[in-house]
Amino acid sequence: MPEHSKSEAFFSEAKTLIPGGVNSPARAFGAVGGNPVFIDSGEGAYLVDVDGNRYLDYVQSWGPMILGYAHLKVTEAIQSTAAKGTSFGAPTPQENELAKTLIDLYPPIEKIRFVNSGTEAVMSAIRLARGYTGRDKIVKFIGNYHGHVDSLLVAAGSSAATLGVPNSPGVTSGAVQDTILLPYNDVQAIKDTFQKQGSEIAAVIVEPVAGNMGCVIGNSNFLYELRHLTQANDAVLIFDEVLSGCRAGKAGAGQRFSITPDITTLGKVIGGGLPVGAYGGKAEIMDNILPVGKVFQAGTLSGNPLAMAAGIATLQVLLEGSTFSLLERKCAMLAEGLEDEARNAGIPVYVEQIGSMMTLFFLSDEADRDDANKNRQGHISVNGAVVELTTATSSTGGCLSRKITDWDSVSRCNTERYAKYFWGMLERGFYFPCSQFEAFFMSVPITEKEIAATIEAAGEVFKTLK
Ligand SMILES: *Cc1c(COP(=O)(O)O)cnc(C)c1O
Repeated sequence: MPEHSKSEAFFSEAKTLIPGGVNSPARAFGAVGGNPVFIDSGEGAYLVDVDGNRYLDYVQSWGPMILGYAHLKVTEAIQSTAAKGTSFGAPTPQENELAKTLIDLYPPIEKIRFVNSGTEAVMSAIRLARGYTGRDKIVKFIGNYHGHVDSLLVAAGSSAATLGVPNSPGVTSGAVQDTILLPYNDVQAIKDTFQKQGSEIAAVIVEPVAGNMGCVIGNSNFLYELRHLTQANDAVLIFDEVLSGCRAGKAGAGQRFSITPDITTLGKVIGGGLPVGAYGGKAEIMDNILPVGKVFQAGTLSGNPLAMAAGIATLQVLLEGSTFSLLERKCAMLAEGLEDEARNAGIPVYVEQIGSMMTLFFLSDEADRDDANKNRQGHISVNGAVVELTTATSSTGGCLSRKITDWDSVSRCNTERYAKYFWGMLERGFYFPCSQFEAFFMSVPITEKEIAATIEAAGEVFKTLK
């Protein structure tokens, strides 16, 4: 195990100063047991901790650092902007520039507002949808995360409750009484809900590619149905692409599936590592925000020049030439490689990958046993003809019955095995997310050679997991 004594000392001190020693719980390594490493710096694809250990990083600050750390163009943009003053509370040309870039990139976005985090973007989009429709109810999907907005902090990737029961103390039952929770990718559930309550629903909010229960891709039928039902019932469709934007596709999952939401929420990548969120959509809806309309939303640091500069520089590099398709190809290479190695080691996994995001799900022993039983059976009979049973039916692995499609299937994964995998990889210099229920991300500076080294190390670790 690499030396972690300085990290340990910083963490002990942090715990006396900051609740749990961290400013966001995802960083605490709670799900894998043990203490977080403290970071000194980042260089391209690598993180360097305070003890001097280097890690090839697949977390990327949970998504934003798609160009890697300290990218020259981004750093220069931040430095030259900072030299002119860091906040004015008055409009700047940089806001127009990032707005134009995103409006060009995302056809469903006609007008956009910048805020300071993904949470703020979602909170504002929900208020706008309610203000615009004059209705109260919001549909959200179990296992989708939309930041720590009170009304959406139910079944936010950690609870399988199907009623509006708050997950967090401090979220009042009043705050969630208008939240309708449904299973992800369940077409019938959303049809039934609209049939019963269609005229009360202000908005449906969804991660079209979920990234906060691990990477789980929205079924295109399901997403089309959401579009159809919201349109037919005059409700607002909100695609929360804070994570999937510029990752699931160049312009997010909406573009990838050719579905036009009414409002898109963005964050992470579009701020290039500075605090940013944005929400945008049809002008007819967006013009209900103050000062044009009556829906209140404001922010002292919103559209901050440093954040705009970092976002503009990041998108310029990301959208150049074949950068994005290369990124996707590298992510597919990692996904396939990890899956092969796991198979070779006899570890049951299911890999989901799209664009530059993916998750390796360790299937439970229960799924393992089911699979073994099926294998023992050997053949099944279809219409009188004997068909050989194969376990692998898709390039992304697993047999269909094991496919990960929603929180229910995700929550049955083998988190203990994931924890061992996580530490095995960290020990070998690879920084993966510290929870089975988070996505891995590919970044521009990671090379094919480094991916091959990752796959080789994973092969060693899988062999220790039996
Ligand atoms: C990260 C995330 C948020 C919240 O963004 P913050 O900047 O952390 O507030 C909202 N929605 C999705 C889909 C996210 O992944």
